[in-house]
Amino acid sequence: MTVASSWIDGAQVLTGGAEHVVVNPATGETVAEMALAQPADVDAAVASARAALRDWSGATPAERSAVLAKLAKLADEATDLFIAEEVAQCGKPVRLAREFDVPGSVDNIDFFAGAARHLEGKASAEYSGDHTSSIRREAVGVVATITPWNYPLQMAVWKVIPALAAGCSVVIKPAEITPLTTLTLARLATEAGLPDGVFNVLTGAGGDVGTALAGHADVDMVTFTGSTAVGRRVMLAAAAHGHRTQLELGGKAPFVVFDDADLDAAIQGAVAGSLINTGQDCTAATRAIVAQDLYDDFVAGVAELMGKIVVGDPHDPDTDLGPLITSAHRNKVAGMVSRAPGEGGRVVTGGVAPEGPGSFYRPTLIADVSESSEVWREEIFGPVLVARAFTDDDDAIRQANDTVYGLAASAWTRDVYRAQRASREIHAGCVWINDHIPIISEMPHGGFGASGFGKDMSQYSLEEYLSIKHVMSDITGVADKAWHRTVFTQR
Ligand code: NAP
Repeated sequence: MTVASSWIDGAQVLTGGAEHVVVNPATGETVAEMALAQPADVDAAVASARAALRDWSGATPAERSAVLAKLAKLADEATDLFIAEEVAQCGKPVRLAREFDVPGSVDNIDFFAGAARHLEGKASAEYSGDHTSSIRREAVGVVATITPWNYPLQMAVWKVIPALAAGCSVVIKPAEITPLTTLTLARLATEAGLPDGVFNVLTGAGGDVGTALAGHADVDMVTFTGSTAVGRRVMLAAAAHGHRTQLELGGKAPFVVFDDADLDAAIQGAVAGSLINTGQDCTAATRAIVAQDLYDDFVAGVAELMGKIVVGDPHDPDTDLGPLITSAHRNKVAGMVSRAPGEGGRVVTGGVAPEGPGSFYRPTLIADVSESSEVWREEIFGPVLVARAFTDDDDAIRQANDTVYGLAASAWTRDVYRAQRASREIHAGCVWINDHIPIISEMPHGGFGASGFGKDMSQYSLEEYLSIKHVMSDITGVADKAWHRTVFTQR
C-alpha cells in the first residue's frame, strides 16, 4: 500500500523526501510505503494553517462543536480501519486497540465537541470603579504538534482535538514509523466539514521535519509528547521564538503496595499496569515498592501471572502482549535487563526474546534491585516491572518520590488515611488508589518535573490552547481621568 505522507490544506500531498517504509513490528512486513515530508514542506503546512486560522477561530463555538461531533461519529464508524492501521503499524494487540485506543479516542473527540461550547471566564465587573473589565479567551493561533509512536491515534487526538475546539489551526508531525491513523484522522476531519488548512499532517523524521516545525517562526505554540530528552530539544527550538510550549514526557511510575493492601488485587494491577501496550506506556507501573511483609508473596504472584501472559500475533484476540515497536527498541530493553544482575537485580521471570520474526519480548520481573540501578531509575519502556521492598510508610513515599519523573503513580491500601497521604505526598500528575492506568476524557493527564508540564484531556487541556485577554473599558466618559495626576498635574 503506497500512501501520501502528508495532508496539507485539506488534501493529501505527495512530498518528495526520502522513501520510507512503515513496518509491522510483529512480522517485519511492509505495511505502507511513502515519501517522507522534507523541511521545506513545513513552510507550506504552516502557511496553510495560518491562512485557515482567521475563519476557524472566528467560527462560533456551536459551529466548531458541530464539526467535532461529526468527526466523532465518522471516527466511530471508522473503528475497524483505525484498529487495522493501529495493529499493523504498532503491533498492538487487537483487543487493546478495540477496547482502549479507538473508543478512548472517539470519546475524547466527543468530549471536546461538547467542551467547545463551554468556555467560561470571570464575570465582567467594575474592579477599578471607572472601567468595566472583561475576559476574552482567544485561540492561541497556529499550533505545532509532535507525537510519539506508542499510542499514535490517541496522542494525535489528545493534542489536535482540544486545539481545534479552542479555534486553533494545527500542523502535526506524527512519529514517522506510525503515521497512518493520524493521516486517517485528518482525512475524516475534512469529511466532517473542517475547513481546509485547519488540520495539517506532515510525516517526516524528527531530526529534520520535527526540528523545523518546532522552531518555525510562524507557529504560535508547540505541543509535544515524547521522550524527555527530545522534549527538551523541542523546547529549546521553540524558545528561539518565545513560543508557548506544552510537554508530555517520560515517566517511571511508582506502584506502592502497603501492608494492608488486597494482595491479589495488587498483583493483578501490577501485571496489567506494567504490561499494557507491551509496557510502552508513559504511565505504566514500572517500580513496584512493596511492604516487606508482602514482598515475597507479591513477587511470586506477579511472576506466576506474568508466566501465563500470551505473547504473539497481535491480530489474535487471545493475544495479551504484542511486540515492541522495533527490534532496535527491543535491543535497548534487553540490554537494560541484561545489565540488571550486575547491579544486584534478580530476574525472576522473563528476560528473554522468543525465537522467530517480530520484536517480541517476554514479560519480565526484576526483584531486589538497588535504588541506584539503571532499571530502577531510567525509563525502560518495555514489559518490565522492577521491585523493591520498603520498611515503613515514610520509606515508601520517599522511594516513590526518588525519581526525576512525576507523571503517574498508584497506592494500594485499604486504609483511607494512607490513601490520602499517598495522594497528597506522591509527586505526580495522577495518583491512582487501588488501580493503575485508567484515564477518562473529563480528567487531566500531564506530569511534573522531567515528565513535563501542561495537561492533555479535560477542560484543562482546552485552556492550553487559549490565550486570556483582559478588555478594560472606560465607563466615565471623561477626558480628565483621575489617574492622569500620576503623570502630570497641569496642562
Ligand atoms: P521521541 O523519540 O521523543 O519522539 C517523539 C516525537 O518527536 C516523534 O514524532 C519524533 O519523530 C520526534 N522527534 C525526534 N527528534 C526530534 C527533534 N530533534 N525535534 C523535533 N521532533 C523530534 O519519543 P518516542 O520514542 O516516539 O516515544 C516514547 C516516549 O514518549 C517515552 O519517553 C514516553 O514516556 C513518552 N510518552 C509520553 C506521554 C505523556 O503523555 N507524558 C505519552 C506517550 C509517550 P520521529 O520518531 O519520526 O523521528
